[in-house]
Amino acid sequence: MIPAEFDYTAPESLDEALAALREGGEDAKLLAGGHSLLPLMKLRLAAPTLLVDLRRVPGLSGVQRENGTLRIGAMTRHADLEDDPSLGIMSHTARQIADRQVRHRGTLGGSLAHGDPASDLPAVVLACEGSVGVRSEQGTREIAASELFQDYLTTAIGEDEVVTEIRVPALEGYGYAYEKFMRRAEDWAMVGVCALVKANDGGCEDVRVGFTHMGSVPLRATAVEDALRGGSLDREAIARAAESAADGTEPPGDLNATPDYKRHLARVLTRRALEKAAGLSG
Ligand SMILES: Cc1cc2nc3c(=O)[nH]c(=O)nc-3n(C[C@H](O)[C@H](O)[C@H](O)COP(=O)(O)OP(=O)(O)OC[C@H]3O[C@@H](n4cnc5c(N)ncnc54)[C@H](O)[C@@H]3O)c2cc1C
Repeated sequence: MIPAEFDYTAPESLDEALAALREGGEDAKLLAGGHSLLPLMKLRLAAPTLLVDLRRVPGLSGVQRENGTLRIGAMTRHADLEDDPSLGIMSHTARQIADRQVRHRGTLGGSLAHGDPASDLPAVVLACEGSVGVRSEQGTREIAASELFQDYLTTAIGEDEVVTEIRVPALEGYGYAYEKFMRRAEDWAMVGVCALVKANDGGCEDVRVGFTHMGSVPLRATAVEDALRGGSLDREAIARAAESAADGTEPPGDLNATPDYKRHLARVLTRRALEKAAGLSG
């Protein structure tokens, strides 16, 4: 439980942080809330030689609204999202992450950069069709959530890049729900389902469904979306669509659930999340 020796720096600007990353080379790591990286270091599954702490870098926290888009600073903590219900599905889901102590440390940028398919907010940002803004010494670029998650704990973010903000469409007029199933309160998700629904005269104008922990990366349930979009939006239509929730997925088995059980959970949670998002859950 004691990490390998490492150096530590807490730069006071983004430029300094980027320079420290370059000087530290491939074994330098950014530190945000530390609630994913430090456990890995204590287990010696990660052994960075330099930690570049982002806590003192100004301008990386807080939420701005711009032309229907939420621009959320990478260092914005889960608790800050939780405390602002106007952030809709982001706030609703942040509230379901672990306990309040973890939510006071963990950051949105850290959660996305870590690339753990069991984390809750990545599936939400994917379903919202959001993106991350990153900066390196070469400039800035935007990575769509659909391109971000490449494999287990592997993202498209370069070693020399810092996530500065996360952009999420505000999705005005959409109902939303995040259904999370776990063995114990405040645990990681065995499976989580994010549903976003835009209703229109009893019909479904648009729908997006994102999965947590149903593969090595967060996933979109496109078969469910295709079955509902443009059709009626009632309990029967939702139940029929939810039957295809697990199609094409290869969820990892673990101590808590076999792949088949996870597929079952995906179907049940998808139906529940869609009913809630459509305002049909009674
Ligand atoms: C007991 C416990 C329970 C938890 N339960 C849940 C849960 O139920 N659901 C859930 O979603 N999460 C859970 N978490 C994880 C928690 O939400 C993490 O804090 C979060 O996933 C990572 O955020 P962080 O700010 O702590 O990142 P860190 O641990 O600091 O960093 C994680 C990784 O991201 C990189 N990184 C961080 N910030 C940036 C950046 N701005 N740009 C580029 N790279 C960056 C780091 O270099 C590192 O590789 C739990 C954690 C603990 C300790």
